[in-house]
Amino acid sequence: MNLLELVDPNATDGVTLLRDRRSLRAALEPVRREGCSIGLVPTMGYLHDGHLSLLRAARAQCDVVVMSLFVNPTQFGPGEDLDRYPRDEERDLRLAAEAGADFVYAPPVEEVYPHGFSTHVEVEGELTGVLDGDPSRRGSGHFRGVTTVVAKLFNSVGPDVAYFGQKDAQQVAVIRRMVRDLDFPLRIEVLPTVREADGLAMSSRNAYLDIEARERATALSRVLRIAAETAPGEGLAAALDAARAELRVAGIEPEYLEARDAEDLSKVTELGDRPVLIAVAAHVGGARLIDNVVVKPNFERMT
Ligand code: AMP
Repeated sequence: MNLLELVDPNATDGVTLLRDRRSLRAALEPVRREGCSIGLVPTMGYLHDGHLSLLRAARAQCDVVVMSLFVNPTQFGPGEDLDRYPRDEERDLRLAAEAGADFVYAPPVEEVYPHGFSTHVEVEGELTGVLDGDPSRRGSGHFRGVTTVVAKLFNSVGPDVAYFGQKDAQQVAVIRRMVRDLDFPLRIEVLPTVREADGLAMSSRNAYLDIEARERATALSRVLRIAAETAPGEGLAAALDAARAELRVAGIEPEYLEARDAEDLSKVTELGDRPVLIAVAAHVGGARLIDNVVVKPNFERMT
């Protein structure tokens, strides 16, 4: 069977929208039977070029591309922005189609968490307890929400490759751990952070920024660049100090600005022989923004 025949020819813009697991499985069953590879791009929608870079990579590497579009309530804490999280499904479908998605899986909340739902997937320890997972910040419950929904998506879609962004470096570390620990038979691909021309990491939450906050938010990528450039010569502590000073100038008090081992997220004080993640989170205007840079052992900036 020709691959083109597997994709619903009546679908708008060449993308087929699916709302429930049964029709998702039914749609993917012939694809799998033909031995085609499936790429999954999990998103919460309100697509930007960061999401599109994942879709394009999936399009280039896999026979069939599935994008999930689900604003997952369980990864939002009380008082976070679940209710006002930006949404525009029509636009997302168009952009996903243009970037080469074959299927968009956009289930309602009840499909993912039916009445009686009570099972969770949790990566324990430092990976989920530091940075965003610190109890004074989003807390490890945020990552429990992420790993639970991603595990469900893996089970529903059965991808050969799943695509994630380096922008959410801790999420990547946590998901990699889950995939290894629970023997998910798939490969994780991580794509570099896509930025605006002035360095701001693209994020659906950038929509919350007014003009003044948008300008101030450029400080986050700027201080990461300063830190990455300072660390090799002057050490990590001096690099973090320089970054903090620059944040102060921009009037930004970070939630955290830390250097950690890029893989296990253990605290590091000196550059050694492993990549180091320098990560920042801050509230700017009405948005909580995160960004990071990885410094390689040979002191070359990676992203
Ligand atoms: P989200 O819709 O924010 O949950 O993001 C969905 C996926 O897109 C995640 O794997 C993110 O890490 C990734 N992503 C978000 N922003 C960017 C960006 N600026 N560059 C690359 N990937 C991104």
